[in-house]
Amino acid sequence: MSAEASGTQAPLALVVDDDPALRLLIRAKLRKEGVRVAEAGDGAEALEAFDRIAPDIVLLDVVMPRLDGFATCRALRGRAQGRRTPILMLTGLDDVESIDRAYDAGATDFLPKPINWPMLGHRLRYILRTSAAVNELAASQARLARSQRVARLGSWEWDAASGRVCRSDETLALAGVAAERFPATLPGLLDLVRPEDRGRILDAAARCLGPAAPDSIEFGLLRADGAIRAVHCHLEREVDESGAVLRLHGTVQDVTERKLAEERIRHLAYFDAVTGLPNRSWLLERLDQMIARAGRRDEKMAVLFLDLDQFKRINDTLGHSAGDAMLGQVARRIESSIRREDALGRAGADAAEVSIARLGGDEFCVLLEGVGRVEDAARVAKRLLEAFGEPFTVEGFETFVSASIGIAIHPHDGADGSGLLKAADAAMYHAKERGRNNHQFYSHAFNERAAERLTLENELRRALERDEFTLHYQPKVHGITRRLVGLEALVRWNHPARGLVMPGQFIPVAEECRQILRIDEWVLGAACRQNRAWQDAGGEAVPVSVNLSGHQFARPGLVEVVARTLEASRLDPVHLTLEVTEGVLMADHEVVSANLRRLKAMGVRLSLDDFGTGYSSLSYLKRLPLDEIKIDQSFTRDIVGGADSAAIVAAIVAIGRTLNLELVAEGVETEAQRSCLIGQGCEVMQGYLFGRPQPVEAVAGLLGARVAAGAPDPARDEPGYHQGQLHQAERFLPSCASGTAG
Ligand code: C2E
Ligand code: MG
Ligand code: MG
Repeated sequence: MSAEASGTQAPLALVVDDDPALRLLIRAKLRKEGVRVAEAGDGAEALEAFDRIAPDIVLLDVVMPRLDGFATCRALRGRAQGRRTPILMLTGLDDVESIDRAYDAGATDFLPKPINWPMLGHRLRYILRTSAAVNELAASQARLARSQRVARLGSWEWDAASGRVCRSDETLALAGVAAERFPATLPGLLDLVRPEDRGRILDAAARCLGPAAPDSIEFGLLRADGAIRAVHCHLEREVDESGAVLRLHGTVQDVTERKLAEERIRHLAYFDAVTGLPNRSWLLERLDQMIARAGRRDEKMAVLFLDLDQFKRINDTLGHSAGDAMLGQVARRIESSIRREDALGRAGADAAEVSIARLGGDEFCVLLEGVGRVEDAARVAKRLLEAFGEPFTVEGFETFVSASIGIAIHPHDGADGSGLLKAADAAMYHAKERGRNNHQFYSHAFNERAAERLTLENELRRALERDEFTLHYQPKVHGITRRLVGLEALVRWNHPARGLVMPGQFIPVAEECRQILRIDEWVLGAACRQNRAWQDAGGEAVPVSVNLSGHQFARPGLVEVVARTLEASRLDPVHLTLEVTEGVLMADHEVVSANLRRLKAMGVRLSLDDFGTGYSSLSYLKRLPLDEIKIDQSFTRDIVGGADSAAIVAAIVAIGRTLNLELVAEGVETEAQRSCLIGQGCEVMQGYLFGRPQPVEAVAGLLGARVAAGAPDPARDEPGYHQGQLHQAERFLPSCASGTAG
């Protein structure tokens, strides 16, 4: 037993010598020194005794039979227990070679024979004291390493003079790196940090090198095995008398478990166990954030309060566990129908958020950010209600449940979260009163507006099937000779009840509900067929212009649609001009320019509509294969006397000339405008001065084509010819088209 372990007990020495007399003398001397003694007569005995009694020191003779002193020393050092036990070798006085061999074999010290007895006593005490100190240090190091391991606390040190880093074993274990691969410099250390956290680490180190106080930071540590651990790092600096930094000391602690626990606690506090959705507390917090953001962005947001209709019935008949299962399914269905709602989506970090929460019982809530129009919220509500049209299967039973939804709009219906939620709740009760399975806005005005808008959308959807669209054509002429050089096809909606509806009043709606793709396709087909028909009837061959919505360019297959249409109508591509607006060109360079190039390669003419109202960037004018630019009618309107417009038109003409683009002025209504434009060098024009958009039959005459039999349909006439119908349309539509006006 060692003295260290036994505390107060006297140290134990193992005396190994083949000479019993010498052993006896040594024993007597050691006893006097207060040391207990065990004896062994040779090396083999010594090893056996060592294992059994674990002495605090070994006195070892060199020359012995069987196993000599060197071999015994080496064998002792090979034992785990013998690694630190002091071994004092007894060698011949002038035997220098033996002394060297003794140290090589691992001896702690040597004492020459014949033994100087007083010296033996001093040497022994000295060795035992040193050994105790070494043992204590080792034990405390082990304790430190153990507690660092338990705390998962590693440490490292950066030396300013050498720029080198050294680290504790636990730091190695944390990083999962072998000692020889551990980075030796600060930049190397950074490689162990998750890339997104590196900047913060450098900032913290800079703060610490400066006059700042010790600093702490948390970051993701990239382990060699690919795992990421959350690590807390505390930095401290060591300075000299002048205040210059000598070293940075850092501790690193694995806090992954703590982080996970915090996350779990947060989850318990903010999430509902039945549906996995966030709960009311979460919702109220999120609502306040969204309101603040909506204020900053000057946008509307909507709160949809959804309550299941007669859910009690399900709880009562199928039991509560079935009720819970049903609520889980309801949650999933709300999620999937909302996620599909992309109309409100925005790209990138600025994305509009959609949040879903369970308020308790059978009440759910959906928060919509970035609501452009209140009708958008109504559309989401409608989609939600439709999602409840499918049955739910609960414990083998198919069952239906509907919902009632109340909608409140910020800022209109409430300035803060709880106010908005109350308004949405009240609107939900209104929906219940209205017979359930419907949605209601808190503000009655929004209900009307949304209803009109949705009606318009539905009617638009049917308009194609019922063949309610028609085309009018406006002549494009040479301003001096007044010769016809082209036609622009402009769509009109011949609404059975509302009369002739102009594109400004339904195209924006059609764009939002994506009907525009089908409408444009119809227009393209009709215009190409009509142009062909005029040519077949002996009419002059001129290009007809068709307006394409920006949405066309975002979808694949546009070029194929155009190619198919030209082929089906047998129209020469040179007799088709496609008009695009500037917004399209800005949207997505690659897709748009690829489409335009392919169209151009087919021989179709390309025109840039409403030029000057958008971004008017010279770079895309140069880059894209355009044939024509149309000067927006707002400039034409003010060109006489309006200095700005005249200057802008002059500039556009100059750009057009430089880039070799044809110029067309839109909206020419007066002689004064015409001569002004000619003065500026823009000769091709379009406008009421030369002809309004007019039905097919009237245009045939302009082209000199034989007019087909049958009287023109008066309903298809252009406003201005039939004022009554225009008024009818305008009376109904402003509220639909005015969008968000309060
Ligand atoms: P746009 O392509 O710039 O068409 C010119 C508009 O100016 C037409 O209005 C035309 O009737 C009007 N206009 C022509 N000359 C004069 C004039 O001298 N004075 C005044 N004040 N106005 C004149 P419209 O037909 O109401 O069409 C409005 C817009 O609707 C068009 O502007 C175009 O952007 C869009 N649009 C028309 N048809 C289609 C279509 O088939 N598809 C798509 N995507 N958009 C269309
Ligand atoms: Mg146009
Ligand atoms: Mg235009």
